[in-house]
Amino acid sequence: MNAITIAIDGFSSCGKSTLAKQLAAHLGYTYIDSGAMYRAVALYVIENGLVRDGKLDREGLLAVLDQLDIRFQHDPLANKSVTTLNGRNVEKEIRGMEVSRYVTLVSPVPEVRAKLVRLQQAFGLEKGVVMDGRDIGTVVFPDAEVKLYMTARPDVRAQRRYLELKTKGVEVDYASVLENIERRDEDDTTRAADPLIKAPDAVEIDNSDITAQQQFEQALDVVLGVLAQVGQE
Ligand code: C5P
Repeated sequence: MNAITIAIDGFSSCGKSTLAKQLAAHLGYTYIDSGAMYRAVALYVIENGLVRDGKLDREGLLAVLDQLDIRFQHDPLANKSVTTLNGRNVEKEIRGMEVSRYVTLVSPVPEVRAKLVRLQQAFGLEKGVVMDGRDIGTVVFPDAEVKLYMTARPDVRAQRRYLELKTKGVEVDYASVLENIERRDEDDTTRAADPLIKAPDAVEIDNSDITAQQQFEQALDVVLGVLAQVGQE
């Protein structure tokens, strides 16, 4: 049976990964979190002194970019896929506020995007992939059979993210979470390279006032409709 590619784009903390994981589990597809790859690059620049006074040492990053080895590996203890940077499990570090603060320094850099987009496209060669991010339906997989574009009001997203971080034991206050989300929205939609935009053929889902289960059902309807059309249901 031939599988399809599902591209999910949208703003920060919009429930993209929750939906992508649900769809992947339901369909037996592979889930790829493209944001984790940009976060891994941000972690690298933070840990290696390539951010000073809030500014990226761009030349310094370009000099080592080839050496960054970013992968997803199965962690048998946690029984889930984790992000690795040069062989080290960085799953926890890349989710923190410091990485969230600096990730939009590295994500507009065209050379970073070119490297990560190449890796992401390689993951998609076999199809049967659900990938979430900002440019998946527009740049990484412009021919994806299903494109979803997720939105939700910033205050709803900040509240969800705040609770998620609190649950994970991360010390944060709501105001800085909201500030970070609004700034990343602005950075991600206005950058020159591969900004977040809705692909013309994407189906938009606003999940401000619906549950994760309702969102999943809406998305699954779209996916099953496409699978039926291509005769793969
Ligand atoms: O999805 P997540 O919020 O983890 O992504 C972190 C950041 O990585 C985004 O704010 C964005 O700057 C960048 N990103 C991107 N393109 C993607 C995925 C993420 O530029 N496909």
